[in-house]
Amino acid sequence: MTVLGATGSIGQSTLDLIARAPEAYDVVALTGGRNVEQLAKDAIALNADIAVTCFDGCFDALSALLAGTGIEVAAGDAAVIEAAGRPADWTMSAIIGAAGLPPGLRAMENGGTLALANKESLVTAGPLLLATAKAHGATILPVDSEHSAVFQALVGEDLAAVERVIITASGGAFRDWPIEELANATLEQASSHPNWDMGQRITIDSASMFNKAMELIETKEFFGVAPSMIETIIHPESMIHAMVGFTDGALMAHVGPPDMRHAIGYALHWPERGHVPVERLDLAQLGQLTFRAPDDARYPALALARRVMEQGGLSGAVFNAAKERALDGFIDGRIGFVTMASVVERVMDNMSSDISPQNATLTLEDIEQADHLARVRADECMAQ
Ligand code: NDP
Ligand code: MG
Repeated sequence: MTVLGATGSIGQSTLDLIARAPEAYDVVALTGGRNVEQLAKDAIALNADIAVTCFDGCFDALSALLAGTGIEVAAGDAAVIEAAGRPADWTMSAIIGAAGLPPGLRAMENGGTLALANKESLVTAGPLLLATAKAHGATILPVDSEHSAVFQALVGEDLAAVERVIITASGGAFRDWPIEELANATLEQASSHPNWDMGQRITIDSASMFNKAMELIETKEFFGVAPSMIETIIHPESMIHAMVGFTDGALMAHVGPPDMRHAIGYALHWPERGHVPVERLDLAQLGQLTFRAPDDARYPALALARRVMEQGGLSGAVFNAAKERALDGFIDGRIGFVTMASVVERVMDNMSSDISPQNATLTLEDIEQADHLARVRADECMAQ
């Protein structure tokens, strides 16, 4: 097996599960970025064949840490893709951002299983991802908790009997803030999630609901359901991850504690169910689960997601790239919290004529070109 993005939040949760039964897994490649200490430590502990940092500048540090271990060391984006292409029956795709797409595509060329946490892959390139899996006989298993929940609710069901898919949202750090205060939200405030312990970028995306916006698009792309059948609802306790409604009125809910090791463990043991060390819920102690409708004015990202789902083509790549740059801008202090959504909207408006029609067959080059242009446009927008 291989773990792409091994040093991140999802990567570390994946390694936590593997380390509980190391004899069961043959670790081929671990990849990371700046955190070479963690990468080297895990590569040694799990006896990986190769450890790769995506940053050329981190090569020497990683080499020094792994000297004498016999573990191969490499650096750079191309090296990450090369390592992803080494034969492995199961690959965790947990790099953050659009950078996760090319290694995930390469991994599928071996025909194994791609456990997909990298939601940007589906948002930017859903049809290409599914076509690549089909062409090579690879299996994609969703790891985003909501999509793992939908996937589990659909086992043994006929998609034709699905009426709606409800993706729950915690509402993020600012769900109870007066809306006029959002403009003053600080980086620190946006970086703390009420329920989930995740990487900083996805935590901020949860506060702005860009994360949920991406998950709506992911749902459309992965399960192939019509956008009109996809809903989201605020569920502050984050215990129900998703629900699937069927034609007979049944609503199947997936309930579990907010711990990504559940969805990762499901993908690791699929099609069986293994033993996964997540907390068992005490429903009596939990007492109640609550729900409320999302407020579109508070979360403009949701309307942008609807636009992407209707437009298809390159709109997902444009949306995601603009969002990544806007998020960089917020993290660097160049723009405020609410400006992120307006940057994305302006870039989408500006590039609307570059966005191919829904069914055009898109290549990785098309997607990378749109991604690049959207980043340039987003930077221009933020410089104004
Ligand atoms: P983190 O930021 O915690 O980790 C990202 C990983 O990618 C790290 O290993 C990092 O290396 C590496 N990395 C960073 N930049 C690059 C790059 N340009 N090229 C290659 N590798 C890179 O992210 P998360 O674990 O939070 O998220 C990973 C993915 O999973 C994202 O797509 C996210 O949306 C998705 N996801 C995450 C969830 C969560 O609970 N965290 C839940 C559902 C989905 P280093 O840290 O060493 O620099
Ligand atoms: Mg999620």
